[in-house]
Amino acid sequence: MHRPNPIGSSRALVASTPLLATSEAVRELFAESGIGCTSQRLLVGRLLFARDQHVSADRLLAMVLAAGARVSKATVYNTLNLFAEHGLVRSLKLDGDYTVFDSNTAPHHHLYDEHSGELCDVAVDEVAFSRLPQLPSGTELAGLDVVLRVRRRTPWP
Ligand SMILES: [Zn+2]
Repeated sequence: MHRPNPIGSSRALVASTPLLATSEAVRELFAESGIGCTSQRLLVGRLLFARDQHVSADRLLAMVLAAGARVSKATVYNTLNLFAEHGLVRSLKLDGDYTVFDSNTAPHHHLYDEHSGELCDVAVDEVAFSRLPQLPSGTELAGLDVVLRVRRRTPWP
C-alpha cells in the first residue's frame, strides 16, 4: 500500500528510532516545518517522534517528567498544538475535550473503545465510502478521518 510521506525522508528516519528520536532528526524536522527549536520542544519531539503512537497531553507530560525534565503542562499543551498546526502530528478529539495526538501522520482511520479508552489504527483500505456530500465551491477534500467508536454490547437480561 502506498503511504504518502508528507514531510519528507527525515520523518522515516525519526520513526525508525526506537526510544528517543535523535536530536538531529528532530531539529531537521523542525527546520523543514519552520518551527523554532527550543530545548522543551526538542525533548517533546524526541519523545513523540520516537515511534508511531497515540498520546494525550497528560501522558506526554508524564513522559517528559519521567525523562527528568522540568516542563510545565502549559508548555506541553502549546507544543503539541504547535506540532499539530504544522502537520507534524494529528490531533484526534475523542470524548468531549479528550484529545489524543497521533505521531503517525500518514492517512489512516481509528477504532476507539469507549469502555477501555484503547485507540487502534485502521488501514485506509479497510473503510470505504459510497457517497460524500458536495463540497462547498472553491474547496477540495483535504482529508477524511474516521473514528469507529465501539462499546460493550448490553447483556441480554
Ligand atoms: Zn493513529
